[in-house]
Amino acid sequence: MKYCSNCGKEIVKMIPEGDNIERYVCLHCNTIHYQNPKIIVGTIPIYEDKILLCKRAIEPQYGKWTIPAGFLELGERVEEGAIRETKEEANANVEIIKLQTVYSIPKISQVYLLFLAKLLDLDFSPGHETLATKLFSFEEIPWNEIAFTAVKFALKTYIDDKKNNRLEMTHVGFYPQHI
Ligand SMILES: [Zn+2]
Repeated sequence: MKYCSNCGKEIVKMIPEGDNIERYVCLHCNTIHYQNPKIIVGTIPIYEDKILLCKRAIEPQYGKWTIPAGFLELGERVEEGAIRETKEEANANVEIIKLQTVYSIPKISQVYLLFLAKLLDLDFSPGHETLATKLFSFEEIPWNEIAFTAVKFALKTYIDDKKNNRLEMTHVGFYPQHI
């Protein structure tokens, strides 16, 4: 960040009075430009004993499999964002069941909120950012071709919960996590 989005003048990096973290500060209009983590929302769409995965048509991780997920928009509720991303990436209709995982990646300041969701029908197809959409049984999941650690974490916790009959749980993951 170089210029103030409020007045257009140059900004400086400094610790404001009463704070203990360096911020981008505009000394012309006294705006402090706080920066906070990005929130990513998505769903694990399930249909009977299968999970809907999307093959990525964009970088990063082009060609790898993931669940439908993306950045939460301003003014949007987390569940709405997760349903919207599922519609955009897989043209799939889902109903939220519960929050499956919360996963923080402090290194890149991202927080993932991934919901377990019921796939309402089999009328799904690849969206613009997706090469293919496919239902996988637990045994078929291509673990070595899953795009992101947070997604792997969500899928593994769901499968574990399902096998151990404890589907009411929400799991919190911390980076780095070797799974
Ligand atoms: Zn300014």
